[in-house]
Amino acid sequence: MGVAPGIVLGTAARVDRSPVPIEHVHLPQSLLESEVSRLYEAVERAEASIDQLEASLESGGGTGEHLGILGAHRVMLRDPMLLGESERHIRQQAMNAEWAVSETLAHIGEIFAHIEDPFFRERGSDVEHVGDLLLRMLSGEDGYDNAIEDISKGAVVVADGLSPAEALAVARRSVSAFVLEHGTVTSHTAIVARSMNIPAVVAVPGVTEHIGEGDRIIVDGDEGEIIISPSREEELVYARRERRQRAFKRALRQNRSKPATTTDGHEVIIRGNLDFASDVSRIGDAGGQGVGLFRTEFLFIDRTDLPDEEEQLDIYTRVLHAASPHAVTIRTLDLGGDKQLRTERDGIVMSPGLRAIRYCLRDRVLFDAQLRALLRASVHGELRLLIPFVTSMSEVRRVKRAISEVREKLVAEGHAVADDIPLGFMVEVPGAALIAESLAAEADFLSVGTNDLIQYTLAIARDDEGVTGLYQPLHPAVMRLLEMTTRAAHAAEVPVSICGEMAADPRYALVLLALGFNELSMTASAIPLVKEVIRRSSKEESLALLEHIRGMTHATEIADHVDSLMIDRFSDIVRPSMRSAPRSAR
Ligand code: PEP
Ligand code: MG
Repeated sequence: MGVAPGIVLGTAARVDRSPVPIEHVHLPQSLLESEVSRLYEAVERAEASIDQLEASLESGGGTGEHLGILGAHRVMLRDPMLLGESERHIRQQAMNAEWAVSETLAHIGEIFAHIEDPFFRERGSDVEHVGDLLLRMLSGEDGYDNAIEDISKGAVVVADGLSPAEALAVARRSVSAFVLEHGTVTSHTAIVARSMNIPAVVAVPGVTEHIGEGDRIIVDGDEGEIIISPSREEELVYARRERRQRAFKRALRQNRSKPATTTDGHEVIIRGNLDFASDVSRIGDAGGQGVGLFRTEFLFIDRTDLPDEEEQLDIYTRVLHAASPHAVTIRTLDLGGDKQLRTERDGIVMSPGLRAIRYCLRDRVLFDAQLRALLRASVHGELRLLIPFVTSMSEVRRVKRAISEVREKLVAEGHAVADDIPLGFMVEVPGAALIAESLAAEADFLSVGTNDLIQYTLAIARDDEGVTGLYQPLHPAVMRLLEMTTRAAHAAEVPVSICGEMAADPRYALVLLALGFNELSMTASAIPLVKEVIRRSSKEESLALLEHIRGMTHATEIADHVDSLMIDRFSDIVRPSMRSAPRSAR
């Protein structure tokens, strides 16, 4: 499945997610004693590395929590079950130490998995970390981070899967493409790839078995194809295709600064999604009118220290300046799910449900630092604040209270804060769409996160490739929720936008226009195409299309109808391959 467009011919660099390759060998009896000693030496080196980390944390102002975790890791390293069982495997089964330790870890992992109490069950991951450390010491490797460090510029990264933080670290090395065995179009890893303009093909079964380090490989992120060790002819075909695509994109960009106004005079504001502050100029270059979604959590997840108020202030101020005179919609932290901090927070454990605003309202130290930075930045441009994952009016009340507390404190300290900062709520949970009227009454704008809204409406995890075909943006249930949201926003006379991936797909532009969205926000590369589709359409025809599909009950029937209409109507710019789900899945 192609999840980020572009064609690349490059050399494969493998990133093995397993932190250490484990050798499995039976040793002769004469070597068993020295193998046991090797195990204990590795334990000592692991302890030394914990000491080192602890010292650097202490001097860097680490919290008691961090130090407590490291202390616990040290105790686990010496745990008689881990060492005793490993030693037994070496002596009795003549296993090498790595094999013995990994067998023991698998056994301990199973025990943890069966613990009923979720708190103790979670501690299994600490044992995993400790085991990883021990295995790394045994094999003399430095682990995953080093695998990333070794990737050279321009490489095609081939991996089983990458977390968003890992994708970020890899992307920063200026790689040319991603090919992943796992992944989906709305996973944050795919979003990172798109926003960094890195062609990506994901959900390729068996790819890590077939591509070796240094293999030449063509990656076509538009068609979702890869060719390993291409022939000369294949290389020529792809080079031609790549040139054609570049010419097509150049042509589209010529009209980019014209507004997205339909032939019958309805303007849709098109903004850009921003995952990295440094990319803000790409939105303006593509014809976007400011930022519709700045995912600030990406500032937090690929590092072990956290950006403080001053660092955030500097980043938000720079983005506001760069986007001026347009508005910048900055979303408060949407941590949780697949976007995890790399550091532990005092006493607050994220869980799949405790994410985004729910998490922030618990971790007021983190949230208030962000709010302080945002409010202080507000005097430097047109700031709009966006709150993710809202599900209840009590959250709305608590968010407003938090903002006014922070404002009062800042003013008392003598800081300047803009008088009027528009506050918007994301509608990305079905419950939020169902209370859209109440939300709209308290909001200055609403923004629909279709990525999450679709996953929670249709009960399909967005990163579960097993149900990719069930990710159906035009499912009648989804459309009803979208319409409830736009109706509520119109009644309250507040703007309503979509900032999920659905907005970036030109095939949906007419339906979204008809549903009443007056703003769309998307990855910069999609802006010229979506603007062009809107400019060539009329609101009237979009309403006729909506009327027609309203009579249909099957999601697949609706999708096929909209697909074929859009492809016929915009044959030169909308192609069948630009789809959110593979054709076979429909
Ligand atoms: C969404 O859910 O559609 C959205 C825009 O937020 P994110 O993709 O960051 O979850
Ligand atoms: Mg979301």
